Amino acid sequence: MSDSIKRFITCHIPVFICNFKCHYCYISQLKVDHSQGIKPFYANPKQIANDLSVERLGGICYFNLCADGETLMHPDIVNLVYSLTKAGHYSDIITNGILTEKLLDITKQLNDEQKSRLFIKFSFHWLELQRLNLMQKFVDNVNIIKNAKISYSIEITPSDELIPYIDEIKSFSLKEFGALPHITVARNEATEDIELLSKYSKEDYKKIWQVFDSPLFNFKISLFNERRKEFCYAGVQSLEINLKTGDYYQCYRGDKLGNLIDYKKPIKFRAIGKCRLPHCFNGHAFLAFGNIRELNTPTYADERNRECINGDNWLQPQVMNFFQTKTSDFDKDFSFAKKALIYIHNFSRKILMKIKPRIRRKK
Ligand code: SF4
Repeated sequence: MSDSIKRFITCHIPVFICNFKCHYCYISQLKVDHSQGIKPFYANPKQIANDLSVERLGGICYFNLCADGETLMHPDIVNLVYSLTKAGHYSDIITNGILTEKLLDITKQLNDEQKSRLFIKFSFHWLELQRLNLMQKFVDNVNIIKNAKISYSIEITPSDELIPYIDEIKSFSLKEFGALPHITVARNEATEDIELLSKYSKEDYKKIWQVFDSPLFNFKISLFNERRKEFCYAGVQSLEINLKTGDYYQCYRGDKLGNLIDYKKPIKFRAIGKCRLPHCFNGHAFLAFGNIRELNTPTYADERNRECINGDNWLQPQVMNFFQTKTSDFDKDFSFAKKALIYIHNFSRKILMKIKPRIRRKK
C-alpha cells in the first residue's frame, strides 16, 4: 500500500545569510538580521527525527525545510534530511541550487528508499544566475538530482524586471529541463496586507505569468488577497516548527503549542479554526494538503510535477503518489460543537490579550 500524508510540517532552518542577492526576496524586505549567520538546531538531527517520529506524530508526515537564506548552507541539513527520511517521513529542501557539494552529498548519503522520499525545490533565479554567471552550474545541479532519481521541481519567482525575458526563459527551460518552470507569486511581507510585489494589478499580473501554464501559479494567484473564512485545521493537520529553538506553532500567526525539547511530553495539536493572516500565501501547500476541507484544490503533485517533452516526469512515482494524498483523508471532520469550542477559546484568548496589559498597568 502506498504512503499517505498525516501532517504537513513546515520547518524554519536557522540560516540567515544567502549566496544570492535577489531584489524581490521577502527576506530582504523584512530586513532579516543577517548578522545572526547560521545557528545550530535545538538538537542533533537524529534526536530531532526521534522527537518527530512517525509514532509521535501519528503517521508519515511531509517536512518542508526552508531558511531565511540559502537552506543548503546549514552544516546539518543533509544529516537532517537523512534522519527524517530514515525515520519514514518525506522531506523537501528549498534551494537556489548552487551548492553542488551539498547536492552530491545527498545523492551519496541517502539510499534508494530515502531518495524516493525526497523532493528538491529548485528556485530558478534567472537574473541572479545570469549576473553571477552560474546558469550552467544550476542546470548541472538539477541534472545531479534528476540522475539520482530524486524528485524535483523548478520554480520561478516572478518579478516585473523578469518580464522582458519570458520568451527566453521558456525556450531555455524546454531545452534544459524538458518543461516550463512553475511560477510562484511574489509577495511583499513588509506590507500589512502582504500585498503583491509588482506594479501590476492582480488581473494584469495573472495575464502576464499565466503564459507558463503553471497549476502552482493558477492556484496561488486564486488564493491571493482572499481572506480565509472557513474553519482551518492548521495546528492539527499542519504545524510550523522553529528548528533553532524547538518551539512549534499552529501556523504562521498561530499560538505556540509547545517545545520539542521536552521529549517526555506528547506533541500537542490544537486547530487554529480562524485564520489570522490577511491571506493564505502558502496555501499551495497548506490548503492543497487539505487544511480547509470544503475547498476544492489541486493536489500538491499537480502543482509540483511537469511532464517533460520526452515523457519523463519531474516527480518520481513514490513522491507523486504521496503528493496526491491529503491530510484530511485520515480523520473525520470536527463536529459543530468542537469547532464552536475552538472559536470560543480563540475569542476568549483575544479578549485576554487585550485586557492583560491594562491589568498589569493597574498593579
Ligand atoms: S488558512 Fe493558511 S495561513 Fe491561515 S491558518 Fe490556515 S493554513 Fe495557516
